Amino acid sequence: MKINRRKRPSGLLLILILVALAILAAILILPEPGLSGSLVFKGQETTTSITIEKVRDNIYMIKGGSGANCYFLAGKKTNLLIDAKMSPESLKDTLAEIQKISAKPLSLVILTHSDGDHVNGLSGLPGGIRILAHKKTYEEMLPAVEQRPELKDFLPSETYEGSKNLDFEGTRLELRNFGPAHTSGDTVTFIPESKVAIAGDLVFIGRDPLIHKQKNGSFFALIKTLESMLAYKPEIELFLSGHADPASRQYIAELVNSLKEKEARVREMIQQKKTLEEIKAAFGLEPGSAPSRRPSLIDIIYQEIMEKK
Ligand SMILES: [Zn+2]
Repeated sequence: MKINRRKRPSGLLLILILVALAILAAILILPEPGLSGSLVFKGQETTTSITIEKVRDNIYMIKGGSGANCYFLAGKKTNLLIDAKMSPESLKDTLAEIQKISAKPLSLVILTHSDGDHVNGLSGLPGGIRILAHKKTYEEMLPAVEQRPELKDFLPSETYEGSKNLDFEGTRLELRNFGPAHTSGDTVTFIPESKVAIAGDLVFIGRDPLIHKQKNGSFFALIKTLESMLAYKPEIELFLSGHADPASRQYIAELVNSLKEKEARVREMIQQKKTLEEIKAAFGLEPGSAPSRRPSLIDIIYQEIMEKK
């Protein structure tokens, strides 16, 4: 009995240690959420199983795999895909999962913007598929082609500027670019009939928005874009995005307000002659604490305010 009593706790302890190690390993291996959308690829792809959820009507959200959320519209004759995962393997897995829900050929891919976690899987498409994107997205994909030559055959086959309306088997789609924001080629796809808009990475939830300065992204313009997006079709109820669950119109309005509040706080501190480091510290960003693969939102707001002075 005595031996048994001793053995049990030690067995339990071993299990606890193993569980703790597994959790630690998962934390260390997983990349920072939402940071996969950079031009740089170091094999940091996360691969989880792909799940498809119906959002509304014939609109489906695809989560998991590697890269950002994708969306697809199931038509009567064909399917339409929005964004293309981060690796060809993951896109192929995605297409196979879509077939289980709607066994139709894919007729069109729309890209929300040029980040790798939305476009690098394109070479997993069958050849000859129509790919539509904003002109700037096409241009911003060109440097990535140098690193990934296989993407050359999967650059957008069709581009637009400003706006483009489409008829997808009777469903009206309105593509809009409201100017530079996350990148300079962001597309919002409005599906008025379903009261849904697909906004790519213009909407981040639970973290600061990303502004790609190297792609002419802009914080001020992001605020304008989000406001334009809300004003464009007041009937839109749901906003779908690359790294979050569907968001309500009210949520986007609150997001805009919180961004404006941040800007106002930074402006006030600039007027008080505070340094960038002091301002960042006021937002809880300790110098050197965040390993910066990219500047923080406060850096960007500060920079844009100073440039306009
Ligand atoms: Zn992005």
